[in-house]
Amino acid sequence: MSAPAVCTTCPYCGVGCGVLATPDGAGGLTVSGDKSHPANFGRLCSKGSALGETVGPEGRLLAPRLYGKAAGWPEATAEVARRFSETIAQHGPDSVAFYVSGQLLTEDYYVANKLMKGFIGSANIDTNSRLCMASSVAGHRRAFGTDTVPGTYEDLEQADLVVLTGSNLAWCHPVLYQRIVAAKAARPSMQIVVIDPRRTATCDAADLHLPLAPGSDVALFNGLLRHLDQSGAVSEAFLRASVEGFDEALAAAISAAPATAETGLPDALLHRFYALWAGTEKVVTVYSQGVNQSAQGTDKVNAILNCHLATGRIGRPGMGPFSVTGQPNAMGGREVGGLANMLACHLDLENAAHRMAVREFWQAPRMPEAQGLKAVDMFDAVERGQIKALWIMATNPAVSMPEADRVRAAIAGCEFVVVSDITAETDTARLAHVLLPATGWGEKEGTVTNSERRISRQRTVLPAPGQARHDWQIIAQVAAAMGWGSAFDYSSPAEIFREYATLSGIAAQLGKDFDISGLAGLTDADYADLAPVQWPVNTTRTGGRFFADGRFFTPSGRARMLPLRSAPTAANPAFPFRLNTGRVRDHWHTMTRTGQSPRLSQHMAEPYLEVHPDDASRLGLRPAGIAEVTSPSGRALCRTMVTDRVRPGEVFMPMHWTGETAALGRADALVASVVDPVSGQPESKGAKVAIAPFAAA
Ligand code: SF4
Repeated sequence: MSAPAVCTTCPYCGVGCGVLATPDGAGGLTVSGDKSHPANFGRLCSKGSALGETVGPEGRLLAPRLYGKAAGWPEATAEVARRFSETIAQHGPDSVAFYVSGQLLTEDYYVANKLMKGFIGSANIDTNSRLCMASSVAGHRRAFGTDTVPGTYEDLEQADLVVLTGSNLAWCHPVLYQRIVAAKAARPSMQIVVIDPRRTATCDAADLHLPLAPGSDVALFNGLLRHLDQSGAVSEAFLRASVEGFDEALAAAISAAPATAETGLPDALLHRFYALWAGTEKVVTVYSQGVNQSAQGTDKVNAILNCHLATGRIGRPGMGPFSVTGQPNAMGGREVGGLANMLACHLDLENAAHRMAVREFWQAPRMPEAQGLKAVDMFDAVERGQIKALWIMATNPAVSMPEADRVRAAIAGCEFVVVSDITAETDTARLAHVLLPATGWGEKEGTVTNSERRISRQRTVLPAPGQARHDWQIIAQVAAAMGWGSAFDYSSPAEIFREYATLSGIAAQLGKDFDISGLAGLTDADYADLAPVQWPVNTTRTGGRFFADGRFFTPSGRARMLPLRSAPTAANPAFPFRLNTGRVRDHWHTMTRTGQSPRLSQHMAEPYLEVHPDDASRLGLRPAGIAEVTSPSGRALCRTMVTDRVRPGEVFMPMHWTGETAALGRADALVASVVDPVSGQPESKGAKVAIAPFAAA
């Protein structure tokens, strides 16, 4: 008799699809979509359906390694604790850092954050989610007072107009795209607009595509705000009751240059979009990395929020701004405060009352009063020798950080580096002094939160390989070895979750949106059976939309519109092309998992450079020939894909390939460490590069 299917959650994108995983009895498993899960109702994309091909012992780290030699857990744990403790004693708490990941489960994230902020006493914990959605967090906080995603996935199906801006949903959030396409098939009057410099696969379903000049989003949405005002689409009643800053935001929009000039879009196309948006009550604006990954990402987010606030199109069915997250638990990381500028449960690090509440709750010996180092700053500090002990959990910054070659050298030069991961075969793991084997998807228990605030369980399907341990266990062991055992004496993820849910109730009393106090009393059995649930979960409500009552989490209770100005980046004649980076359909991050599946590699087998035919012809680049791409920070070789999907003067490279699979095909080696001043998110879609045919020496 075969083993029963286990309900779990996909470990890839922020859609957070439910998966039924069935062990095959030979160490593998088969998967299918969970029809009862409200994110996907049984659907899976190519990545999710190939999960069974990505598990197994191949390439796994099976035992701790200490300075290149196999070691036992007691030895490895003691060494990590000793080196961190000595560094802190000698140089202070801010001389150490954790760089964590949206691949961690919420319980892992919570424990890591508690150790760094409450016990080590530094805020130097940041996450690879900084690279994916930090601008959305900052934009939400500026407009709403909290990092609140207002809507639900149902809104995308109920909308009469879905605007997808800076979002290749068809490849990056495929099941959400499938839901929108199905909704449009059932109701053809639904309109879909795609705003993207590239003609991506998402445009296949679009009624209108706006190939705007990269970086001109603020100009586009400022122009929309002006149009909304002129066309009478602004909601005076909503502005009066629920919004502040409208006059200033509108004045800034009016004083800006016409959108045509900066977006490069013809007047007629712009006006078609503006008229459609103004004339459609039920409009959802979905945005993702094309908006967030920018030196002006937070302003771009607020430019979108401004338009929804001006019209009152928020908090009601079928309307609202909607930030979709890249990673499976980017949202969980935000909620537990796994960012250098936040505390757990959306509490504010720089608010003394919030710090005190968390400190008392944790019975913590200390708590930092200032923000820690955000991702880019953290690796700069590693390079300077200011960070002397670094623990990297479940991520591969030697490939994925901007100026990846410089980051790789910085990690290599750090005095003490710990990497906990499922494999020793990442570019980052090869640089570690201590390697700690962690359990991966299908081997661990915990929760993740998807883009619509839905908390789902990840469950164990397969046994942990070798000596691998769960991330929360590894962190708690090190905490105990550093002398804080009683605060980290957890016996299960359920126990961690209950503590976290209890803390969220305190956050709610302090006026925060994140409240899962209704789950604080879960028994172990309740936690084991926990069905997907959208927060908030408290005594009065479960899930649904925020802001239906027109009240926000600012001191005045009103949302804030912001005056915004476009800030185009200066051209660099030595590097005349603008490099856009992003995902391909069938790979994930640096391919640690998807690289195991031959089926997934069939879609795109190697890195490539999309280049416009006019540029290719002018530079002598042949289709499928090799191009050399250079930037001030790096160099990459790529096969050229000559296509008019990109605009002249712009090129595109996927971001997945590592030093392993293509020695010089790493897109992030080319990306500059330029960040948004508010969110700290790097501009991963606007590197200045030069391209030429590769001539072998
Ligand atoms: Fe997994 Fe995202 Fe695909 Fe769903 S859409 S199966 S969460 S990768």
